[in-house]
Amino acid sequence: MIVRDFNNIQQTTYDLIVIGGGVNGAGVARDAALRGLKTILIEKGDFACGTSSWSTRLIHGGLRYLEYFEFPLVRESLREREILLRTAPHLVRPLLLTIPIYRDRSRPYWKIWAGMVLYDILSADKTLPAHRMLPPAQFQQLFPSIDPDGLAGGAQYYDGQVTYAERLCLENILSAKAAGATVLSYVKVTHLHRQGNRITSLTCKDAWTDQEFTVKGHDKSMVINTAGPWVDHVCQLGMTNNQEAPIGKTKKIGGTKGSHIVVAPFPGAPNTSLYVEAKSDGRPFFIVPWDRMYLIGTTDHKFTGSPDQLKADDDEIDYLLRETNYIIPNAQLSRQDVKFTYSGVRPLPNAEGKRPGSITRKHILFDHTKEGVTNLVSLIGGKLTTYRQVGEEMVDLVFKRQGKPVPPCPTENKPLPGCILPSDPRVQQVLTEYRDRISSQTINHLFSMYGSKTLEILGLTDSEPDLATPITPELPDIKAQIVYAVRQELAYTLVDIMRRRTTLAMHSHYGMNLLPSLTDTLRQYCGWDEHKCNQERERYINYMNNNCLPDFDSLNTSQELSFSS
Ligand SMILES: Cc1cc2nc3c(=O)[nH]c(=O)nc-3n(C[C@H](O)[C@H](O)[C@H](O)COP(=O)(O)OP(=O)(O)OC[C@H]3O[C@@H](n4cnc5c(N)ncnc54)[C@H](O)[C@@H]3O)c2cc1C
Repeated sequence: MIVRDFNNIQQTTYDLIVIGGGVNGAGVARDAALRGLKTILIEKGDFACGTSSWSTRLIHGGLRYLEYFEFPLVRESLREREILLRTAPHLVRPLLLTIPIYRDRSRPYWKIWAGMVLYDILSADKTLPAHRMLPPAQFQQLFPSIDPDGLAGGAQYYDGQVTYAERLCLENILSAKAAGATVLSYVKVTHLHRQGNRITSLTCKDAWTDQEFTVKGHDKSMVINTAGPWVDHVCQLGMTNNQEAPIGKTKKIGGTKGSHIVVAPFPGAPNTSLYVEAKSDGRPFFIVPWDRMYLIGTTDHKFTGSPDQLKADDDEIDYLLRETNYIIPNAQLSRQDVKFTYSGVRPLPNAEGKRPGSITRKHILFDHTKEGVTNLVSLIGGKLTTYRQVGEEMVDLVFKRQGKPVPPCPTENKPLPGCILPSDPRVQQVLTEYRDRISSQTINHLFSMYGSKTLEILGLTDSEPDLATPITPELPDIKAQIVYAVRQELAYTLVDIMRRRTTLAMHSHYGMNLLPSLTDTLRQYCGWDEHKCNQERERYINYMNNNCLPDFDSLNTSQELSFSS
């Protein structure tokens, strides 16, 4: 059992309490701690276990939003894209996208061209190349596998990709911690206690022991609700004099569900990302090279269920397969090709009666003063791309509400902990130093995930050479990553390690084949006993079944699960 001591926390008075450790909460906590606020962040699961791990993983301006005249949102997102390319170049990379344009679809050539020009104007200060339009003959030469029927040409432009979005969140958490914030995962906020018009303390519950403890503020403290699709649920936790009294009567979030599938490289698969208008319903979707595979998504459906129980439907999977086969007829993808699926709920503003695709993607800082609670602000909406901006706005607001001068925001220029450029001399140095023990493929892979922290991971193999061993011959990952996740990256479970510190869960048939090797390593180096290994294996299998395994695949996999450890 994991036992943690919460006594210190109970005795501390915090300036800022952040509920939710997705990318937005992490960004708020980092900014606040760097600006000197006594900060605590409380997350009910693992960091980035919510929507932040279920996105298309693009750091983008949102070309699509131009159709809805959301120019300020696009401008803001493009500015944030540039900041992330500079402060987290190990995690956020330029991504070339290609749009095939067809005569019979709703977005004609001139409209795409106009969008491209506008996108370039809104990012005039960018470091990425500008767009280019492709006439049909040139397009077909570059993309011979793409359906030529009715082709009017194409467009190419750049955006950003964050392959390991969960690690972007984690680096913000680790940076917040290094700056003095207390960050707690697997602790749920169960009650918000109110006196008069203020939240004075929170009851929290440790997921491992069920122990309850209190987190308190002072008379100027603020509480920030960055619980994503759970924002309304957190507002329901309000209590006055032990009476349940939800904060506010109106629903703030109107979530929409989006699903993705992951497939191995397939016949006709493009080298660049495709941004395609679906033939059946005109919705734009992406086919993106991702982590040596392809990520295809997303869908967009109104969602009213529990964000804790989410899985791609067979219909959504079939839609994504069918549309990919339309645009790349050689692909011939079928359900058997699906390696992994995932679904998330976009925490969008509640907008009854609106089409999911047309609901604004801009974020709103909802001040609950108008509902009678003066020190609570909830985040409605917010993209991965704009998390830093959200942090800046929230922390500015906290200082203003505390009546203090607002210190300058440091996150625009301060690099994230793993920041390193591929041209950094340390990369070459490490490749030479470890040449005899570790393949260059592995070292490059580590730099792309951990940036400069690769040096710490490789350092583990100096004292324990066995940790340089690949986890499996098919993948570049090594055992040291598992040990590093537990010792340095606040990972508690196999799901944390395989799904959010690494992407092992998306390989080797949902990571199932890797479980024996992983639990051996955890037993040997991290003190996991037999009971913990068995418990974790079971938890992992349940998680996969509940979230990532398509229903049509579950029989197959359950046969595979019957291995003995
Ligand atoms: C299908 C899809 C595709 C997307 N694609 C992109 C994209 O390509 N680019 C982009 O920029 N954005 C994209 N987004 C949007 C983006 O992923 C989200 O807006 C963003 O991740 C939201 O982060 P968050 O921190 O606000 O919420 P979350 O990541 O959901 O975090 C909220 C956290 O609060 C925790 N929590 C809830 N209740 C409690 C409680 N009582 N106590 C403690 N903790 C609690 C949850 O466990 C959760 O971890 C996409 C979203 C979806 C769904």
